[in-house]
Amino acid sequence: MAYVIAEPCIGTKDTACVDVCPVDCIHPRKDEADFESETQLYIHPTECIDCGACVPVCPVTAIFALEDLPEKWNSFTPMLRRAAFSMAGPKIRAQYLTIDLRESLIRALSRRA
Ligand code: SF4
Ligand code: SF4
Repeated sequence: MAYVIAEPCIGTKDTACVDVCPVDCIHPRKDEADFESETQLYIHPTECIDCGACVPVCPVTAIFALEDLPEKWNSFTPMLRRAAFSMAGPKIRAQYLTIDLRESLIRALSRRA
C-alpha cells in the first residue's frame, strides 16, 4: 500500500521528500514542467516501495501510509481529487484512484457492519 501526501504539503512543497526517495516516485520534481503549477507533491501509488524514508524528513508531517491517513484529510481529498483530475497528468490521477479505492472499501465495510 503506497504512501500518500496530504494537505500540509500545500504551501511548503520544499521537496525534502524527493531528495530521499530511493525510487524517485514523488512528483513533480523541481526539474519537471508542472512543478510551479502544482500546489503540492504526489507519490506514485505503484512505484512507491513503502520504505518510509520520506516520512521523517517532511517538515510538516504531510506523508502517511495510506491506511494511516488521518480521518481529518478524508473530507479534503475530494477537493484535491477534483483539482488533480482537472489539471494533472496520469501519475497524479493514479494516486487519487488509489484513495477512491480505499474510500470505496471503507464504505462497503461500513454497510456490512
Ligand atoms: S515511502 Fe519510500 S518509496 Fe515511497 S515515496 Fe516515500 S521514500 Fe519514496
Ligand atoms: S517533504 Fe513534505 S512538505 Fe516537503 S514536498 Fe515532501 S510532502 Fe511536501
